[in-house]
Amino acid sequence: MSADGGGAVSLSLTADCEHCFGLCCVALPFAASADFGFDKPGGEPCRNLQSDFRCGIHSELRQQGFPGCTVYDCFGAGQHVSQSTFGAQDWRGNSQHAQRMFQVFPIMRQLQELLWYLTEALTLQPARSLHPELGAALDQTARLTRGSAAELRELDMAAHHQRTNELLLRTSELVRATTQGERANYRGANLIGARLSGKDLRGASLRGASLVGAVLRKADLRWADFTGADLRGADLSGADLTGSLFLTQSQLGAATGDAATKLPGSLTRPAHWRST
Ligand code: SF4
Repeated sequence: MSADGGGAVSLSLTADCEHCFGLCCVALPFAASADFGFDKPGGEPCRNLQSDFRCGIHSELRQQGFPGCTVYDCFGAGQHVSQSTFGAQDWRGNSQHAQRMFQVFPIMRQLQELLWYLTEALTLQPARSLHPELGAALDQTARLTRGSAAELRELDMAAHHQRTNELLLRTSELVRATTQGERANYRGANLIGARLSGKDLRGASLRGASLVGAVLRKADLRWADFTGADLRGADLSGADLTGSLFLTQSQLGAATGDAATKLPGSLTRPAHWRST
């Protein structure tokens, strides 16, 4: 969550914590678990959040029992809401303003995440027949992010999400259809702790699958669709993720892997993965 960012104000799809009012560390609730060290209700600042909106334990979140914070990604929603929607006016000292900001943040986060998926979809050549529709959806979603706080709160996010998701699903199907042989369909599957080492999962649908603690060592996951898959504690050591679809940096960060794990070009190896 709140980190130690830097650089110029950015309204991009990458979190820029330097220009955010610590929104994920205030607006969102969390519960004491393997991911968080204590309970915190939504709308209440985390007790580790400092007055400069930085996290007081940022450099040791995992050691202090907050790995959930290290894998959260707002896709740039935090700085967008802070700097653009609310004109750089922070939430302190005005409870109504704070409440509005905390309501808008999760909506913006969903829009920014969709922008991230749509941007990736527009790079996928096997789905080029859908590029005009994807481009239109990208433009529409970007327009929505520029709405006022009131407009964002009134947005029918569920309907917009469903329309966009259907388009992304068609995109995924076109790309995965280029792989040879049978493609596994694990959409929404419960694969908690599943032992899938060495499996040929090329072009598989893992959309929304729960892969918590799953063992995927040396699995062939090329062109597999990871949209919304829960990879907490999954072991990706030696797995091949080249060309995988809609896999995010935060999903990788929630998993474990090693130097032999092959990654899509747009993602980087998390620092906590084994180096051998
Ligand atoms: S522990 Fe740090 S990163 Fe996590 S919610 Fe609290 S302030 Fe934010």
